[in-house]
Amino acid sequence: MGDGPLSDGEKSSTVRVTPPARARKLAKVPFVELAEGRVQGVVSSGSDIGRVYVSSVAAGTYAFACSTNNNRPCGGARGSYCNHIRALVGEAVLQYGAERVARYLKADTGDTAPDPAAIVAAMTATRPAQGDTAAAAPVFSRFLRHLAYLELAPSTAPLPEMQWFPPTRAVA
Ligand SMILES: [Zn+2]
Repeated sequence: MGDGPLSDGEKSSTVRVTPPARARKLAKVPFVELAEGRVQGVVSSGSDIGRVYVSSVAAGTYAFACSTNNNRPCGGARGSYCNHIRALVGEAVLQYGAERVARYLKADTGDTAPDPAAIVAAMTATRPAQGDTAAAAPVFSRFLRHLAYLELAPSTAPLPEMQWFPPTRAVA
């Protein structure tokens, strides 16, 4: 590789590694995992680029939690799922596939094929309780560990964790 501007192929190479089930909007939900009996991850604030939310939904009970990285409660997650949790479920479906997310959450969408809306509807219909945000700190620290890949020496070897990085141009 020379010193010239990157070709289109080189620019997009970070998103070609182990493609998710569907293309994800990585800038919106940079980190999502099925872990510890929860769908959990980090969701960007829609209005403040300096703020992120750590959101989670528990499998089986659908108990939900959402707080900022500074552990302040999300104003939208009082009584029901906020937009961050909905975005998280949507991105989990893109990353892992709807069937797998529904199975993991034990969300029964009945006759409806599982998609993000059906999964969220099945869970909210049970009037889930608010969970505690104790899990937020470990989730956020795993996210920061992913950020640590920024510190790695340049390499052409694929790093799947790098997939969440948005394209270099500004994201709307
Ligand atoms: Zn929220």
